[in-house]
Amino acid sequence: MTTLASIIVSIAEEMRTASERGTVANYIPPLARVDLNRFGMAVVGMDGETHTVGDAEIPFSVQSVSKVFSLSMALNAMGKELWGRVRQEPSGSAFNSIIQLENEHGIPRNPFINAGAIVIADILVSRYGRENAQTKLLEFLRPLVSDPSSIDIDTDVARQERETGFRNMALANYMRTFGNIRNVVEDTLDFYFHQCALTMSCHQLAQVGTYLMTGGRNPRTGEQVMSERNAQTILALMMMCGHYDGSGAFAIRVGLPGKSGVGGGILAIAPGVASIAVWSPGLNAQGNSLLGTRALERLVQHTGWSVFRANPWVANPT
Ligand code: GLN
Repeated sequence: MTTLASIIVSIAEEMRTASERGTVANYIPPLARVDLNRFGMAVVGMDGETHTVGDAEIPFSVQSVSKVFSLSMALNAMGKELWGRVRQEPSGSAFNSIIQLENEHGIPRNPFINAGAIVIADILVSRYGRENAQTKLLEFLRPLVSDPSSIDIDTDVARQERETGFRNMALANYMRTFGNIRNVVEDTLDFYFHQCALTMSCHQLAQVGTYLMTGGRNPRTGEQVMSERNAQTILALMMMCGHYDGSGAFAIRVGLPGKSGVGGGILAIAPGVASIAVWSPGLNAQGNSLLGTRALERLVQHTGWSVFRANPWVANPT
């Protein structure tokens, strides 16, 4: 019988032997030196049942996957008015593109491209203050996982992001001229760089994602951490914008809302079914994990978890 456990073992085996693995992000040394052969995957179901494979317990830099969590906090803090400062449309551009901002008067296309995530960071700095924003982010994430103290921010990665983040500085300063950055640019960026430097394993990331699988509820505590409506909005944005200019291809191949990061992680959500995290540090041309995407494609082929499937969900194979 095919079980979810055997499916992910076979996926890990396929990825272990794959010859084309993409390219590791090389803009800062801590990312450049990650072993290209790493591969991990974790799946957490609605009943909390968890399957892990490969390097699922090894922490990595979640980078832009963190944009999902900062957006969740900003929506909680600000509500619908947030959409006056960042739009809800796919960009069709690279994650760090500057081009659209001028035409669109400093209002980024969506909260998952860098410009949009920097606006979200600015909203959190306004709300909580520079230092406290970081604490609040960790407080948001930690109750979702079984070993809370081990989720942390790699301050060395954050420092190197800052030292090399010229394009992000350009984006932030440019938006400041339109009044869409309200704090000292350095403060907003410093928080943004720290959020990108969050470190988690696949196992932890899949656990963190469970509030999006359940319509905003932390299944561990039963607490509603965001409204069901906002959780749906975030999933829709993940589907449309979670992989930058690779979002269309990801939606067609995988059919799940997902968010990637240049560390090689992807968080994907099958609503009402599973929260899935995958990590393979080699990236494709759009800066998304090459084998991570392929692994999710395989998982969905085996389980039928695509949200676009016409038939009702196939039984959750256990
Ligand atoms: N820290 C990276 C940046 O801001 C994150 C980009 C990403 O993960 N796509 O450029």
